[in-house]
Amino acid sequence: MPRTGTTVSFGMTEILRLACGKAGGGGTLRGPPCWQTGGMSVTDQVAAAPAAGEPCVLLKLGEIVLKGRNRQQFERLLRGNIRAAMKDTGLPVELLHREGVVVLTVARGERTQAEHAQAVDRVAQRVSDVPGIVRVCRAARVPKTPEAAAAAAVLLTAGTTGPFAVRARRRDKRFPVTSAELAVLIGKQVQAAHGLPVNLKHPDTEVFVEVDQREVFVFTGGQPGQGGLPVGMSGRAVALMSGGIDSPVAAYRMMRRGLRCYFLHFSGMPLTGPESIYKAYALVRGLDRFQGGSRLFVVPFGKAQQALASSGADRLQVVAQRRLMLKTAALLARRVGGAALITGDSLGQVSSQTLPNITALDDAVSLPILRPLLGWDKTEIMAEARRIGTLSISELPDQDCCTLLTPRRVETRARIDDLRRIEGRLDAGQLAERLAGTAQEYRLD
Ligand code: ATP
Ligand code: MG
Repeated sequence: MPRTGTTVSFGMTEILRLACGKAGGGGTLRGPPCWQTGGMSVTDQVAAAPAAGEPCVLLKLGEIVLKGRNRQQFERLLRGNIRAAMKDTGLPVELLHREGVVVLTVARGERTQAEHAQAVDRVAQRVSDVPGIVRVCRAARVPKTPEAAAAAAVLLTAGTTGPFAVRARRRDKRFPVTSAELAVLIGKQVQAAHGLPVNLKHPDTEVFVEVDQREVFVFTGGQPGQGGLPVGMSGRAVALMSGGIDSPVAAYRMMRRGLRCYFLHFSGMPLTGPESIYKAYALVRGLDRFQGGSRLFVVPFGKAQQALASSGADRLQVVAQRRLMLKTAALLARRVGGAALITGDSLGQVSSQTLPNITALDDAVSLPILRPLLGWDKTEIMAEARRIGTLSISELPDQDCCTLLTPRRVETRARIDDLRRIEGRLDAGQLAERLAGTAQEYRLD
């Protein structure tokens, strides 16, 4: 995707404002999720009635629970990632591990009931960025009696309209009331309190009641989490970040599959200004909420591009540049223990991404190159970029290094032998070593 606009009228401040206001800081870009189905928020309800029990956040782990023998290891990793994310909230969050779910509570301290409930809302919001969780439910934790569960359900459904259904299940089968009996008992009380109709097939509001070993959790639908696997479960990789729309989405998709991403950006400096670096930094900052502790490497690439042009790359200039980027990335991957490279390539999107050219890129390095967007259309990629909050940053103008020295016609069927010949003339291996040596590292923690 060519990015135009050599006159760049924004600076680091602008980019950081975008990164913090729109993409960073625990998912503020999506607006506050409604943790309730009713008009009244949990905060109001809890403030109104102590019978609601202790406010907490209940997390459904989805795919992670299917992992058989490795499950414990995955759960340990997820708990560590959750704890790290919770540090951002500055709240005294306690993590309780229950069978198949994780529960987060906040020590009440000096907070009023309403302030306490708001703090728990903040926890729910922040944890919804952590991959490996399929659903984030704002729940009430009540004593283990049918009466307490019913009272919490009545409060939760206050302010809702339309039919409802109670879905009860017992993780503790010794609980004296069966799941079906419990659902009926609670349903009757909700009906009596609010006069709402029951519709088990198509309810507007679902009230979930889960009986655990020590307590009962009562909650409505909640919000979707990121899904996927905990970051770190699949190892590490270096993500090549251009500052465009595709590469941050590609990195995000691989984080969701458990890869910890180290980011690498090639700027056109000294032939261009530093604006593309600001963008890359802002993008990494926006993505950091999904993994924490991110690192960005920046390599000035302008001179190397000139060297390629001088060695007669001509129509192969773009593919040759990309191969040199990949070689440099492979060296940095070795430094950080990365086992793969990630790019935002999408088949046929631009001339450097035809099948022959992609094959020629694969030939440049022995590490696998992961291309999660290979089968995605631009509109799909843009929708995802909007959802994860990177689109507005990617769309800022900058001078990308790839737009420098672009030949009038780009080769769509690059031949590996030709590329190797060009690289032989300037000892691309050594050049990549030198480039990796110039990488500047920015840590986001
Ligand atoms: P993006 O794919 O991020 O929108 P783009 O489509 O303009 O940008 P291309 O020139 O098609 O990027 O490059 C495809 C991929 O190569 C990018 O997704 C990215 O992974 C990598 N890449 C390109 N330019 C750079 C760069 N300056 N720094 C790091 N990686 C880059
Ligand atoms: Mg692209």
